[in-house]
Amino acid sequence: MTSAAIRNAFLDFFRSKGHLIVPSAPIVVKNDPTLMFTNAGMNQFKDYFLGNKQAPSPRIADTQKCLRVSGKHNDLEEVGVDTYHHTMFEMLGNWSFGDYFKKEAIEWSWELLTSVLNIPKDRLYVTVFEGDEKEGLPKDEEAANEWKKWINEDRILLGNKKDNFWEMGDTGPCGPCTEIHVDTRTEDERKQVDGKNLVNADHPQVIEIWNNVFIQFNRLKDGSLQPLPAKHVDTGMGFERLVRVLQEKQSNYDTDVFTGTISKIEEITNNKYGFSDTKTDIAFRVLADHIRAISFTIADGQLPSNTGAGYVIRRILRRAVRYYYSYLNYQQPLLHQLLPVIATQFESVFPELKQQESFVTRVIKEEEEAFLRTLGKGIETLNEIISYFKDFPVYPISNPVTPKSPMPTVIKELTEVNSGISLFSGDSESLHKTISGKISFILYDRYGFPFDLIRLIVRENNFDVNEVEFNAEMQKQKERSRAATAIDTEDWIIVNEGSSNEFVGYDSLETKAQVL
Ligand code: ATP
Ligand code: MG
Ligand code: MG
Ligand code: MG
Repeated sequence: MTSAAIRNAFLDFFRSKGHLIVPSAPIVVKNDPTLMFTNAGMNQFKDYFLGNKQAPSPRIADTQKCLRVSGKHNDLEEVGVDTYHHTMFEMLGNWSFGDYFKKEAIEWSWELLTSVLNIPKDRLYVTVFEGDEKEGLPKDEEAANEWKKWINEDRILLGNKKDNFWEMGDTGPCGPCTEIHVDTRTEDERKQVDGKNLVNADHPQVIEIWNNVFIQFNRLKDGSLQPLPAKHVDTGMGFERLVRVLQEKQSNYDTDVFTGTISKIEEITNNKYGFSDTKTDIAFRVLADHIRAISFTIADGQLPSNTGAGYVIRRILRRAVRYYYSYLNYQQPLLHQLLPVIATQFESVFPELKQQESFVTRVIKEEEEAFLRTLGKGIETLNEIISYFKDFPVYPISNPVTPKSPMPTVIKELTEVNSGISLFSGDSESLHKTISGKISFILYDRYGFPFDLIRLIVRENNFDVNEVEFNAEMQKQKERSRAATAIDTEDWIIVNEGSSNEFVGYDSLETKAQVL
């Protein structure tokens, strides 16, 4: 089944169950102070849940463009490193606004997955909320009983509040959820851990695909729960993950959602993609992922800029540039060349991209060019630093000799100039120099120079760079910017009222991938 056919199968199925199919809301949220980007299918239906507006139909389904790169849901660090978290993804969803509840939601999700899409039943696990006495939350016996009609009891696992209870904030509508996980391990792998039930946290090939939330309580200010008069269903299924399961792949990037883009990157850069953990393969995945997030967000009206949502997009774009620059050995604007592939691929489902293809291409190309110039300047500065360091004679540092060339400003700016050069162990003949993490952090901060790239260049010159110190500087920056990222901490409640939307703390989120 092609991905397009899978998307249609989902929508057709819920249409046949009386759902109104609606278009995706824009990925960019313009009128909500709590949210920069749509991060779940239900965002656009918030007013129906709160009773502020009447839903056009009590049953709705759609595919929603989502972006999870900030606030409560920030998956950026995983993207490209793992094979199933994306920045932008499609969330397939079905909703009941005061209409059907657990019985139908569970029955239909089972019917769709096992009878329509033919996922083998022995590949599925479900989780239900175990309850939380301290919080006064009951176990979701009702959902467990519904599941027992369809699936063996040993495949119904209990989940805690973090994974299996949804709250919109400290007060308001909330309720338990049940999640569906698919075991995509090979037969051999399954035999090795025979008999052991796994959910996605335990094995990278056992992945969560679908979350069904049952909104049945209203949490009051005093913390107590009141049953809601009208109960709702809110579900979200990761489209790319579903396609991976149905196309029997080990990675979302091996499905037809991404293979077109990956081939194009192979063709442009003359590298080969091979589904491994190498930096080259991660770079392929990062590019194939990020180009979607960048393009769809621009098409929905958010240009890259220095503040707020625009800054988030700019940084995603720069992260992609750094990956191709460093690991695909490609130093020309690349991302914009991928536009024709995705604009055409998504034309029938999200036509807005094809309609603005040349505009989006131009914006991305200009961003890439500007950033590549900055990176170029960073490299020049680094070369200056390296040649200055080369002028230092062999130690001891207690008896320093004035280097022949003038000190680059970037080093001058540091008060502790000499601590920027530290000794490694070894005798005086084999000593080598380590460039301080503080200097490399300045390069990173000012020119967007990724640490890995700094290290690469430095090592080519027989120096090293102090990673521990670099990480410490990064940590300090993270603390400085933490307050500024307080936005987007919930699905939709108002946080940090009165503060500005300016978003300044993003770099710090990317330390794990170490490519910024
Ligand atoms: P995970 O635990 O894998 O991060 P989640 O519990 O955060 O997922 P939900 O908020 O329950 O995800 O969203 C509903 C569904 O959306 C998930 O079951 C999953 O299939 C999909 N999904 C969530 N985050 C991503 C992502 N970053 N990329 C692709 N699909 C995602
Ligand atoms: Mg998540
Ligand atoms: Mg989860
Ligand atoms: Mg979930």
